[in-house]
Amino acid sequence: MAIVGATGLVGTTMLQVLQQRKLPVDNLLLFATERSAGKLLKYNNTEIAVQALNANSFDDGINIALFSAGAATSKEFAPIAAKKGCVVVDNSSAWRMDTTVPLVVPEVNPNDVQNHSGIIANPNCSTIQAVVVLNPLHKVYNIKRVVYTTFQAVSGAGNGGLNDLQQTSQKNPPQHFPHAIANNCIPQIDSFDESGYTFEELKMINETRKILHEPQLKITATTVRVPITFGHSVSVNLTFENPFEVAEVRSILQDAPGVIVQDDPANNIYPMPITAAGTDSVYVGRIRRDFSEENSLNLWIVADNIRKGAATNAVQIAELIQN
Ligand code: NAP
Repeated sequence: MAIVGATGLVGTTMLQVLQQRKLPVDNLLLFATERSAGKLLKYNNTEIAVQALNANSFDDGINIALFSAGAATSKEFAPIAAKKGCVVVDNSSAWRMDTTVPLVVPEVNPNDVQNHSGIIANPNCSTIQAVVVLNPLHKVYNIKRVVYTTFQAVSGAGNGGLNDLQQTSQKNPPQHFPHAIANNCIPQIDSFDESGYTFEELKMINETRKILHEPQLKITATTVRVPITFGHSVSVNLTFENPFEVAEVRSILQDAPGVIVQDDPANNIYPMPITAAGTDSVYVGRIRRDFSEENSLNLWIVADNIRKGAATNAVQIAELIQN
């Protein structure tokens, strides 16, 4: 097995998740840029030296490579790895909407992994946590429309994002985000397209449709960067085809794989980034009827963006491949 981008925020978390989930790994190779070559990273009581990624990196019969080194690296190196018989699980946006590449959340569409031709894509972090909750409700009530509003942690932008929160709080200019993020909310994640949507918003729309196999589903999204280190929050408004009871919704979600319901407003209990951070579950609360529209519901969904939103989901896909 290999991790490409092993020194990054997602890559180092992949190392931890691989150990915690005890995935059988015979030989682990770690790749990053030339800058990181020789750096030692801990894996199960051993230290592994990071190697600079190049076109020959996959020559030695690697079965699975977890990529988290950005879209440009994935575009260039994932096909090289796949050609050499390696199955790539890619965290970047490079392959997600490619019709030949499955986009997989194991709790939602595990069977899609079967249809790969060497590359499987891991969805966008906010999309992963949303569809884990939407899917069990869609099966029962048939979702007609989705409105997403996100509150996304700075770690979603990697080490650069975390540095910006620390730096700008010390009054230095931001290096990564277009504005200071400390004491601020930035309603821009990624760049804008000509319609006025950001690419992050379009990712949530398109990826939700692909994972749920609902290419026509009505979805809109606003994605916002907030000064939180770890844990994305998503406010979701859903309109269903079928009528529902809130108690039944709660019960469906309590039984849903990967979901923990935290919904006791009388005792101030609801999901929050500080309680989700460092865990692998998707938390849902503030479950309530939207009285302004027939068959409509409001939800608040929180998960650790680096774990379930990236590293853990990728390792779960690797587990599906190995089984
Ligand atoms: P990061 O902390 O900035 O780390 C980037 C990693 O990629 C580093 O290991 C870096 O190596 C490596 N890298 C960059 N260019 C490379 C190249 N040309 N060849 C080999 N390695 C290269 O970023 P991150 O947060 O871990 O994110 C990595 C990827 O995961 C991105 O595609 C991102 O979109 C995706 N992702 C992130 C999140 C999240 O919440 N952060 C969620 C889902 C998906 P050096 O250390 O040597 O520079």
